[in-house]
Amino acid sequence: MSEPNREKKRVAVIGGGISGLATAHRIHELDPNIDILLCESSPRLGGTIQTERRDGFLLEWGADNFITQLPWGLSLCRRIGFEDQLIPTDSAHRQAFVVRRGRLRKIPEGFVIMAPSRIWPVVVTPILSPLGKLRMAWEYFVPAYAEQEDESLASFVIRRFGRETYERLVQPLVGGIYTGDPERLSVQMTMPRFVDMEHQYGSLIRAVWAQAGRKRQQQSKGSSGARYSMFVAPKGGMDTLIDAIAARLPAGSVRLQAPVTSLQSSPEGGWKIRLGGDREESIHVDAVVLALKAMAASQLLASIEPTAAQLLAEIPHASCSIVSLGYRRDQISHRLDGFGFVVPLVENRKILSGSFSSVKYPGRAPEGKVLVRAFVGGACQPELAALPDDQLLAVAQEEFSQLLGIQGEPLLVNIARQNHAMPQYYVGHKQRVQQIDDSLSRLPGLYFAGNAYEGVGIPQCIHSGEQAAERMIQSFQEIAAPAPADVSS
Ligand SMILES: Cc1cc2nc3c(=O)[nH]c(=O)nc-3n(C[C@H](O)[C@H](O)[C@H](O)COP(=O)(O)OP(=O)(O)OC[C@H]3O[C@@H](n4cnc5c(N)ncnc54)[C@H](O)[C@@H]3O)c2cc1C
Repeated sequence: MSEPNREKKRVAVIGGGISGLATAHRIHELDPNIDILLCESSPRLGGTIQTERRDGFLLEWGADNFITQLPWGLSLCRRIGFEDQLIPTDSAHRQAFVVRRGRLRKIPEGFVIMAPSRIWPVVVTPILSPLGKLRMAWEYFVPAYAEQEDESLASFVIRRFGRETYERLVQPLVGGIYTGDPERLSVQMTMPRFVDMEHQYGSLIRAVWAQAGRKRQQQSKGSSGARYSMFVAPKGGMDTLIDAIAARLPAGSVRLQAPVTSLQSSPEGGWKIRLGGDREESIHVDAVVLALKAMAASQLLASIEPTAAQLLAEIPHASCSIVSLGYRRDQISHRLDGFGFVVPLVENRKILSGSFSSVKYPGRAPEGKVLVRAFVGGACQPELAALPDDQLLAVAQEEFSQLLGIQGEPLLVNIARQNHAMPQYYVGHKQRVQQIDDSLSRLPGLYFAGNAYEGVGIPQCIHSGEQAAERMIQSFQEIAAPAPADVSS
């Protein structure tokens, strides 16, 4: 896409999380002549993604893997030569549990977030009552919603499958992904696939069965099916992906401890960014990408575009704390024959979910030891995420002891606090994002990326960054080669 001999552009990417890195990488990939400045306020790249290695354990402070069904994460890994570093989840233990009356019960095989693709595992599961199972099966006959309006995830699931399936299975599964409250989360923004299934097939059960039938047909025709497990992780930890992207950026393009403290449109065109920190400085750039949390973006926009700033500030964010605990394997009586468990709110417990990190992926704990993580807080229990360290630790230990049968003290403890880190896409989020887009379209040369808009997962963050980069470069090209004047009149 680069054009020789044209004036060299200079652009700033503000924020060095996965969104900002993906943005900077895509800009460089499309036009290596562009001078990129990536400003990160903290002393390290990665944002909420952070990995720590201690006593032979590999601790993730936030994300520990990403989904492969959305293409953008894998595609970036391929393009930077990182694909061979990705490992699948351990196929021997691909199952998860849900807590029911204080015990871990297997989530019925084939149950994907809200729709069962297999009958027998649902028939025999002790998680649902006979009436609850009948009501779930009745989904086949529930007419599709005629309204096109958004609704909450809870309303969607209760309408289609009944309250029991919602409370005992879907709420904890969705709560685990979004650390959110499904009574307020928008179904359109968080689970659009299921809304499409309803519209297309009239029923989610019909949709998953039709899809399963197609898959079987493809397999019988010799197609090898999915090449990847549904989730993958970098063998050496999430920060190795961050380092690999950063290593592909031009030397000198990343500035750490460089918080952008203000942003102004420049009278001669482009933008003036002011860097705080040790070396205060004002820099002129042709275009800017804000790859920040919504609140940080709102602060920079307050004096430039107050409407967008206000809308951004109003996107709610949930906090959660992650307590990682290392044990000797013989301290835990549970078989740990899965990747972890989720906890329904109706169980009245103090953790959202538990992850068996060293079962999910190899290399997370030394031989003979295990690493487990408890997620505490989220939108429904914010007061628990904010507990002081000693109380958080006590909560995690007590819950794990009761649910997994743990004896004795942990060998390793780590508490990671992710404050206001998870944007909540409540009903109406789509319209809000549209309004933000509309008001920012009045500011040429300013672009957005991040998890606050169209997806919180790593692949979606990468996609948002890459789209911002592509739009920026397209606009440079349009400026360099203006459309021919309309001579028709
Ligand atoms: C606990 C937890 C678990 C998760 N697990 C998963 C998972 O397993 N899989 C998955 O796909 N997703 C997961 N996610 C979601 C995903 O990790 C995040 O949505 C994603 O990492 C956000 O990246 P980002 O770059 O948009 O934002 P951030 O990571 O928030 O990065 C923004 C960066 O901007 C910097 N910054 C802020 N203000 C300024 C300023 N003024 N100037 C310069 N820099 C500034 C910050 O320091 C930060 O580094 C998880 C999230 C959390 C919180």
